[in-house]
Amino acid sequence: MAQRGIALLGSTGSIGVSTLKVLERHPDRFRLVALTGGKNRSLLEEQVARWKPRFAGLAQADGQNGVATGPACLVEAATHPDVDIVVNAVVGAAGLDATLAALRAGKRVALANKETLVMAGELVTEAARQGGGELVPVDSEHSAVLQCLDGRDAPPARLILTASGGPFRTWEPARIAEATREDALKHPTWQMGAKITVDSATLANKALEVIEAHFLFGLGYDAIEVVVHPQSVIHAFVEFADGSVLAQLGFPTMELPILYALTHPGRVADAGVRRFDPVAAGNLSFEPVRPEVFRAYASGIAAARRGGTFPAVFNAANEVAVAAFLDGRIPFGRIAEVIERVLDGHRDEPARDLATVRAADLRAREAATTALA
Ligand code: NAD
Ligand code: MG
Repeated sequence: MAQRGIALLGSTGSIGVSTLKVLERHPDRFRLVALTGGKNRSLLEEQVARWKPRFAGLAQADGQNGVATGPACLVEAATHPDVDIVVNAVVGAAGLDATLAALRAGKRVALANKETLVMAGELVTEAARQGGGELVPVDSEHSAVLQCLDGRDAPPARLILTASGGPFRTWEPARIAEATREDALKHPTWQMGAKITVDSATLANKALEVIEAHFLFGLGYDAIEVVVHPQSVIHAFVEFADGSVLAQLGFPTMELPILYALTHPGRVADAGVRRFDPVAAGNLSFEPVRPEVFRAYASGIAAARRGGTFPAVFNAANEVAVAAFLDGRIPFGRIAEVIERVLDGHRDEPARDLATVRAADLRAREAATTALA
């Protein structure tokens, strides 16, 4: 069997480390060709010693011997000639150029980096069309949708993405507004990087995922819904024209959606994933989202519906507000407020080209920084 070459961007993060665990179990199928981290030199060096990739880089470090440094190393890794699949596990807008370059070069992008699909969905899907590249989701809800659709001719009529509801699902609004960094980082069902964990607490993550689903599966926003499902066992539902509904289930782990993004539309045996057990899963429950409490979610859905550069602006404002919250500069309740202020000040424009999107992203970051004061 020919091994497929993998580039792993963001190898030192949560998805990055989970991806290495998956690759470790399938040495006959995949060969790690390129690795990039952000700032964590010691972990990257450990990974390089273990995996001996042909290319390694640190995107957020200054020049030093040993590995390539600076943001350009992401594109270099993603377009390496020996790479077939790029796992983009970078967090935030920094991952955009690498996704575009890989798709234009005809590669598969296994995308965890949802922020860049939200920021530039039209441009990313266009790059795939032009270059013959393929965009495959790593996000568990979107992997679930893809798994329900694979091997079927029928298009989906409606998607329902599940949300755990985060640590504040049952909290009163006044208590949520005062939540600490520690409260927000205590996710009930998933172990993830800090930024997405805060996004799960505000539910901004679910708005990002609705936009992600729109661009991945081509459905309008009236056909993409969200339901709170605290156990995180069902990852998404797909309804077809006749009203029949399929769902994908499993105990929460990112290793399964990562593996599927590498093997799709095929499947391979993997002893590393906990087998499903309905009795152990216990009762599964569902409740509506509270958009009036989780205002960052409501803002994200409104931005989605307005289209153009609104999703990019929502994403940029959220990134700035979440970074400020993680730094202890604003309380939890102000994250949604900063996003609202930035969106209120933004005027409609089509997401024509990369320059327009980047300019909107930059202006939104400046406006969010002003709103923090
Ligand atoms: P993380 O913070 O644990 O890791 C992020 C990685 O990106 C690290 O390797 C870091 O060094 C690198 N990085 C950070 N800033 C960078 C920059 N400016 N330039 C280059 N590299 C940079 O985050 P994570 O939880 O692994 O999430 C990664 C992405 O996957 C996010 O987009 C997140 O929304 C998405 N995602 C994560 C999970 C999860 O379970 N962790 C689930 C679904 C989707
Ligand atoms: Mg998700």
